[in-house]
Amino acid sequence: MAMLEIADELLEAMGLDEIRNVLPARLERAANTNMSYSDFLVDLLTAERDAKRSRYIKTRTSLAHFPFIRTLEQFDFSFQPSVDERQIRELAGLSFIAECSNAVFLGPPGVGKTHLAVALGIEAISRGISVYFINAHDLIADLEKAERENRLERRMKVYVSPKLLIVDEIGYLPLDQRGATALFQLVTSRYEKGSIILTSNKGFSDWGEIFGDPVLAAAILDRLLHHSTTINIRGDSYRLREKRRAGLLEPRTQSPDGRSQAAPR
Ligand code: ADP
Ligand code: MG
Repeated sequence: MAMLEIADELLEAMGLDEIRNVLPARLERAANTNMSYSDFLVDLLTAERDAKRSRYIKTRTSLAHFPFIRTLEQFDFSFQPSVDERQIRELAGLSFIAECSNAVFLGPPGVGKTHLAVALGIEAISRGISVYFINAHDLIADLEKAERENRLERRMKVYVSPKLLIVDEIGYLPLDQRGATALFQLVTSRYEKGSIILTSNKGFSDWGEIFGDPVLAAAILDRLLHHSTTINIRGDSYRLREKRRAGLLEPRTQSPDGRSQAAPR
C-alpha cells in the first residue's frame, strides 16, 4: 500500500496521469493473470501514450477552428458519384502537404466540399500537421482590418504558419480590390511553403468577377493551381436530400444521362 502511494506521487510528479488513473486496475489484472513484467510495462506505457495522443488531437482540433467535425468515413461516396473516391483517398495520404501542393474543391452548395476539406484537415492533425480553417469572408475581413491598423505583416503570420490552411467558400461574396490584394499576398506567401485547401461554389472562369479584377484573379490562380489537385463535384445537395426524404421538398427523378432533375408535376 505504501509502495502504491509512492508510485502515485512519482507518477504525478512526472505528469504520467493516465498511468496514475489505470494503475490500480492494471495491477489487479496483472496479479490475476500470468502477465510478464515486460507486458505489464508496455501495457502501462501504451495507455499513457494513447491518452497523450488523444489529448493532443483534441487540442489541435479545437485550435484548427473547424465549423464541424466530419471524417472521411462519414462521407457517403455512393451518394456523390462525381467524387472519385480513389482521388480523395490519395489526398488523404497527405503527400500533397509534404509537397506543399494545394487542393481545390469546386461545386454547388451542399455537395460536401466543406465536409471533405474538414476530413482532410482532421487526417492531417492526426499525423501531427498544423491546420487552420477559416471562411474566406472572415479571412479577408481580418486581413483588411489588420491592414487598416498597420499590422498586416504580423497578422499574415497566423495564416502563413500552419502547414495546411483551409479557406472555405471563396466566391460566395464578391471581394473588393483591398480584399483581393490581401488574398493575393497570402497565396503568394504560402506558395511552395505550405498547402491550401480551398472550396468554392464558382468555377475558375468566374474568378475574375469575384475579385473584380481579372489580372489579379489570374495571378492568384496561377500560384494556387501550379501544384494542385482540383476536385469538381457535380451533383445533388446532401442537405436537400435529407429534406426531400422528410417530404419537405418535391422528389427528384433520374434523367437518362444519370443526372437528377426535378420531377415533372
Ligand atoms: P458544401 O460545403 O459543399 O456546401 P457540406 O460539406 O457543408 O457542403 O455538406 C453539407 C452537409 O451534408 C454536411 O453536414 C455534410 O457532412 C453532409 N454531406 C454532404 N455530402 C455528404 C456525403 N456524400 N456523405 C455524407 N454526408 C454528406
Ligand atoms: Mg461549405
